[in-house]
Amino acid sequence: MQILLVEDEISLSNAVKKILEQNGFIVDAVYDGLSAVNYAENNNYNLIILDVMLPKMDGFEVIKTLRNDSIDTPVLMLTAKSAVSDKVSGLNCGADDYMTKPFNVEELLARVGALTRRKGSVVLNTLTYKDISLNVNSAMLSCKNESVQLSRKEFEVLKVFLYNPNMTITNDNLINKVWGMESEATYNNVEVYISFLRKKLKYLNSVVSIKKIHKLGYRLEDKEC
Ligand code: CA
Repeated sequence: MQILLVEDEISLSNAVKKILEQNGFIVDAVYDGLSAVNYAENNNYNLIILDVMLPKMDGFEVIKTLRNDSIDTPVLMLTAKSAVSDKVSGLNCGADDYMTKPFNVEELLARVGALTRRKGSVVLNTLTYKDISLNVNSAMLSCKNESVQLSRKEFEVLKVFLYNPNMTITNDNLINKVWGMESEATYNNVEVYISFLRKKLKYLNSVVSIKKIHKLGYRLEDKEC
């Protein structure tokens, strides 16, 4: 499950990100409205957690823009404003739920759970691309009748590719998503796990390969195309 968190208060953003990650979600954090639109339109999120008062573009504008562009990702609006009129305008412009700050952790997780289940958790338990499928509960990678167990990091790396098929994923993006923004992981770490995954894809005899894009990153693609 991949969540986009849009909150410009860094300390609150970090705290919410940590809670969600501890509960098994993959979280991208952005801190202004324009980045929110950009990320939401270029990734497949299961949920967007969206603050209202944001730099560059407010949360209402963000959600209007996304809905106009036919992005129907569920949105949970998060705001300090508790006035009824704001709740109504949030829901009118396409939000799926609304929470006022300060909120407690249990309430946040309950609402996130309800909104991410709505899309059908059965389908989302398995990520597929061409002839491979990845079970997100067991981290088993399958192709035709064969399966291999992925290690935790291999699993995290492959998930990023499967959420963004046919897209070039930069080294920095992989490090941020798999190891975290503040980690000391380097491009070497990325390369090591890419090579592990390549071996497993080869073992499975899959048509899928991870192609290196010079000086940029990697892309998951069908080597027979
Ligand atoms: Ca704010």
